[in-house]
Amino acid sequence: MNNINNASLLTKMTEESHQTLSIVNPANGQTIGHVSKQDNNEIMDAIERSQIAQTAWAALPAKVRAEKLNRWYQLIIDNQEDLARILTTEQGKPLTEARGEVLYGASFIQWFAEEAKRSYGDSIPAPSGDKRLVTIKQPIGVACAITPWNFPIAMITRKAGPALAAGCSFVIKPSELTPLSAFAIAELAYQAGIDRDVLQVVLGESPEEVGQIFSTHPLIRKLSFTGSTRVGSILMTQCAKDIKRTSMELGGNAPFIVFDDADIDKAVEGAIASKFRNAGQTCVCANRFYVHSNVYDDFVAKFATAVSKLKVGNGLEDGVSVGPVISAKAKENIQAIIDRFVDQGAAPVKPIQPYGGLFMAPVVLRDVKHGMKGVQEEIFGPVAPVIKFDSDEELIDMANDTVYGLASYFYSQNIHRIWKVAEALQYGMVGINDGIISTEVAPFGGVKQSGIGREGAKQGLDEYMDVKYLCFGGM
Ligand code: ADP
Repeated sequence: MNNINNASLLTKMTEESHQTLSIVNPANGQTIGHVSKQDNNEIMDAIERSQIAQTAWAALPAKVRAEKLNRWYQLIIDNQEDLARILTTEQGKPLTEARGEVLYGASFIQWFAEEAKRSYGDSIPAPSGDKRLVTIKQPIGVACAITPWNFPIAMITRKAGPALAAGCSFVIKPSELTPLSAFAIAELAYQAGIDRDVLQVVLGESPEEVGQIFSTHPLIRKLSFTGSTRVGSILMTQCAKDIKRTSMELGGNAPFIVFDDADIDKAVEGAIASKFRNAGQTCVCANRFYVHSNVYDDFVAKFATAVSKLKVGNGLEDGVSVGPVISAKAKENIQAIIDRFVDQGAAPVKPIQPYGGLFMAPVVLRDVKHGMKGVQEEIFGPVAPVIKFDSDEELIDMANDTVYGLASYFYSQNIHRIWKVAEALQYGMVGINDGIISTEVAPFGGVKQSGIGREGAKQGLDEYMDVKYLCFGGM
């Protein structure tokens, strides 16, 4: 290990503990460490320290904050392998994907280090000659985040990068299932010269209690959440009382559409990447496939053949492309979705291989109908239901027939159709002839019940800044 000494990290986290949380490797059920949980008073103390630290942090020139963020970025890159192994061990995703997540996560720190220097205001032509009008942008203050287990590093850096760049201090509650990655990247931030009170990672007595404190504490000015729509709605409701700002990146139900003028091989490649990455456990994973009847059999056959080549296993082993799912409850839910589709007349294209533990075979289901129960659910697992369609109009109606609006994908070679469909899809993001759309330079976020706000890109910084209007009279 380079800068991260895993053993000392774990010791540090267990001492001073009131209660501890055991972290389990989903690939083999073994306990890999224990972390301490703070009580409610300690969470309050952390927020108060954050407020004090924020004033000094915001007073630093943006260039200095950028230099510290760049050092943090470099340390994450230097420790890519250690971080990837911690990530795979607590989360399960294949090591190649974990390495990719470390790079993707680091990219937000670098991007926002650059953006820190560009939080420009405006000068506004005044309606009368004796006035001069300008706007400035200021950090909103203490910000906090609650993050999920599916991207234990990137979902933190995507929020911490812009928060710190803007001049906010930041308190994070990671998922109880994957806190080791969070503590590890925070440790690297401290090594980069970022004050311990500017960036804090806490685990409270329960997610509900931390959520309650974060959304009602008067010093907290902003809550950013990534997770389920159910919990996002609870947090927004709690934040509404004191009109606290929120960003919400919630559930998805991404359609993946293949028109009859598509390059089928490319569509299969995109479908594999979009559906089976992270064992299907991402909010932008393709959730339901719509394939034109002229190419349905061809696509399904090629897709199922490609899926049969995916190797299921412990993410630390070479060649594994599908790791375990996160928990026994998740496996049960995914199995129930498969069973429900099969009961309604859908069929697996190839026999489903049973796996023990938290492993599951990737499955392609054919003869799924749009009206079947399950089409409206976020699967969050390695299951691909494939539905047939005939006309573009019918297709658009089916694709938009969901409460969600995060990612969508389609494959077509016809530029007229591409523009029409891209505009008609009610989603925050559209992948056109591409199954992997996330990048730090583009705005990530959803419409409808998939959330509010954007992460990454030039928009990401504004989530942590207030616009102040200055009116100079008597000029
Ligand atoms: P998932 O179903 O993907 O685990 P959740 O929305 O349940 O998504 O969890 C995402 C994050 O929200 C995790 O950090 C979890 O601990 C936290 N969480 C779960 N329930 C609540 C709650 N009632 N209030 C605040 N945070 C919560």
